[in-house]
Amino acid sequence: MLAEIITIGDELLIGQVVDTNSAFIAKQLNKIGISVYQITSVQDDKQHILQAFKDAESRVDVIIITGGLGPTKDDITKKTIAEYFDDTLVKNDAVIKNIEAIWKQYVRQTLLQVNLDQALVPSKAKVLMNKLGTAPGMWLERSDKVFISLPGVPFEMKALIDNEVIPKLKDKFHCPFILHRTLLVYGLGESTLAARIETWEDALPEHIKLAYLPSLGKMRLRLSSKGFNEQKVRDDIQFQIDQVIPLIKDEFLGFEDEDDSIEAIIGKQLTKSGETVATAESCTGGKIAERFTANPGASAYFKGSVVSYATDSKINILGVSKDAISKHSVVSGEVAEAMALHVLELFKTDYAIATTGNAGPTKGDSDVEVGTVFIAIATKRRVFSEKFMLGNLRTKVINKGANKAFEMLLKEIFKN
Ligand code: ATP
Ligand code: MG
Repeated sequence: MLAEIITIGDELLIGQVVDTNSAFIAKQLNKIGISVYQITSVQDDKQHILQAFKDAESRVDVIIITGGLGPTKDDITKKTIAEYFDDTLVKNDAVIKNIEAIWKQYVRQTLLQVNLDQALVPSKAKVLMNKLGTAPGMWLERSDKVFISLPGVPFEMKALIDNEVIPKLKDKFHCPFILHRTLLVYGLGESTLAARIETWEDALPEHIKLAYLPSLGKMRLRLSSKGFNEQKVRDDIQFQIDQVIPLIKDEFLGFEDEDDSIEAIIGKQLTKSGETVATAESCTGGKIAERFTANPGASAYFKGSVVSYATDSKINILGVSKDAISKHSVVSGEVAEAMALHVLELFKTDYAIATTGNAGPTKGDSDVEVGTVFIAIATKRRVFSEKFMLGNLRTKVINKGANKAFEMLLKEIFKN
């Protein structure tokens, strides 16, 4: 079973809005065994949309469209669907009721004609009621092909996908079971990893697909398979996982369940053990703290951070000795370790992370090479640091630095 996703909106094509809708929809479709063949983004333009519909219909069974349903842009998608299906727009009473209810509850202003016009839907469409907004979802079928049109606002689209679209698609199509298992591997480059697992990879059976997903110092290794016998699919993948783990034993950090990031895995681990962490950040500027706190429940293990960016702050707030700085430079393993030890003490935590480096593009308080980052981990038992060369792109140095710090911490946590 194949699907295509068409996202509509000028804002997507000028880079103002990132098309997150497609990623969400693709993920949900995959879970029920529908593979996405193509994702297309088009302008708010009738001819362009018609062409995209025609192309998609020639290739796949299910076409999911988002966007272009808002009241201000003339409901371009709805009009185009009506034309494509040789249909007319008719008023839908249930949608009017929904709009009136939303108005009464949230808006409390005079209902405008443009809002009521949102209740106009192609006569051949089955309405998917949008309880979170005024633009209805629509389901249309023609000779075994299904067109589903959803509003572009992500939270409205998501609710309709989960509550309406997925259950209806499951009913309609007998789909195979698809399984993805993703292994998190840290500290190995793509080519080193590939060489390490080459023999295993070459022996993978045809129906199991392997993907390398590298990103800033971490690697995700995804195994995928599908079939009508769910247990067999699970067993086959598990068998391969059992073979590959011994080959990457020291660098394997666990499985990525759904969207778990490394900081979320750390968070779960610390919550479990009742331990805590704090950070002293120079070149990462609070990035590590930000990523910890993006996870709900972070207060259980994340105590706080000192963003000691200037050399002064490292001395005055964190108590790093001037001597150490003049002897080793502010960007050094010694300074990183002193920062980590002080912040461990300051926040009374079990673990501390410290970063000091030069993110570029010009040299700052230190004369070390741009991209040099020292990261230290302090625990109640020991302190240690590592030096990294992270290139000369500022955002990359910061993000990669944060990833490396999480990687060092996670390894330390797993060791204990
Ligand atoms: P309006 O009339 O309010 O401008 P519209 O016709 O542009 O509405 P939609 O196309 O449904 O309505 O989009 C509403 C909002 O949803 C957009 O402004 C955009 O911020 C967001 N959005 C649309 N498409 C996507 C997408 N593919 N990914 C993420 N967000 C999106
Ligand atoms: Mg739009």
